[in-house]
Amino acid sequence: MNPDLFAKSLNTFEAAHKENGHIFVTRPDLPPLDEFTEYLEKIWQRRWVTNNGLFHQQFEEALAKYLGVKYVSLFSNGTLALVVATQVLRLSGEVITTPYSFVATTHALNWNGIEPVFCDIDPLTLNLDPDKIEKLITPQTSAILPVHVYGNPCDVEKIGQIADTYGLKIIYDAAHAFGVKKGSDSILNFGDLSVLSFHATKIFTTMEGGAIVTNDEKLKKRIDYLKNFGFADETTVIAPGINGKMNEMQAALGLVQLKYIDERIEKRKMLTRLYKNLLSGVPGISCLTEFDNVDHNYAYFPIFIDENKFGHARDVLYENLKQQEIYARRYFYPLISHFPMYRGLPSALAEKLPVAEHMSKQVICLPLYCDLGEEQVERVCTEIKNVYENHAYKEMEIV
Ligand SMILES: *Cc1c(COP(=O)(O)O)cnc(C)c1O
Repeated sequence: MNPDLFAKSLNTFEAAHKENGHIFVTRPDLPPLDEFTEYLEKIWQRRWVTNNGLFHQQFEEALAKYLGVKYVSLFSNGTLALVVATQVLRLSGEVITTPYSFVATTHALNWNGIEPVFCDIDPLTLNLDPDKIEKLITPQTSAILPVHVYGNPCDVEKIGQIADTYGLKIIYDAAHAFGVKKGSDSILNFGDLSVLSFHATKIFTTMEGGAIVTNDEKLKKRIDYLKNFGFADETTVIAPGINGKMNEMQAALGLVQLKYIDERIEKRKMLTRLYKNLLSGVPGISCLTEFDNVDHNYAYFPIFIDENKFGHARDVLYENLKQQEIYARRYFYPLISHFPMYRGLPSALAEKLPVAEHMSKQVICLPLYCDLGEEQVERVCTEIKNVYENHAYKEMEIV
């Protein structure tokens, strides 16, 4: 092919791709590859590839420092960290939790033979409504498992008081809450344990990965035994542990990612502002409330569709966006309490979870990641306005 023609067709392809390209809800934020390969070379030289390797040790320390917490135990993923957190506190019987989350929250209880007891959520934060916890407590209740949904802090004071009064443990599922602070304190410093996820869809990723955060040195030690089959030393096994260890490649990536996280949160904040400005005049669309005393991490950009004011159901918008190759996601729909393994539970009845049911039908998470361009945010908002105006136009015809 004539090189000029080739260059021209390539440009056309790129232009078309940029204009009509698919936009996914998220895309992993990765550092420059050469920074990572420097670390890989060291792993190859050392041949210490897992089992508390040097990068693993460095990453645990660096992460604790960055997050402003005492101890971090790294895991191969967040779900195993949740399972081990439940084990290490010896939870049993029933645990009160939220239906408005990713399924792994409840699955972790199920894997420990615990009955999840679903509690309704607060419409403003979408987190467990602390005022509805107490009436769900029974003699079998051993703990509360709330989620800081979208990185929005739970009412940690009220939940803490309830736990103290009734002698319950608290594990926070903080999979969305990397870097979030309330006042000057990390949100991870509340409850007995907090669990992080570094999955590819999260704001801080090691491709797969997770961690348990605690302020208790003895708990940290027992967590580290449990994630390594229960080995306390070469010949002593103190519990039926599991293999939850993070490997050296994940830890190395984590170390490199830490250099970039602050600027990425800034970028996400800027894109969130842009979304909010562009959507501010559209009837029937509301966004999450931001709180003055909270350092938010801008992990997600959920919007909530009021069908009566917007003129279309949430799913009409969802399908329209999909047709335009904009792949938003309905986090969290369906509710966990709707899945076959949980829907038979007495606490899963829709009448008992009215707020969660309502919000789950309204929510749609718009694309948000660091290399999302401003023009792509504009394109998403234009499509949303088109869907709305299409309705307004139809209304006019009827009149
Ligand atoms: C992602 C996520 C998890 C699971 O973490 P993995 O690292 O994917 O195992 C658990 N809870 C919530 C709320 C999540 O979003």
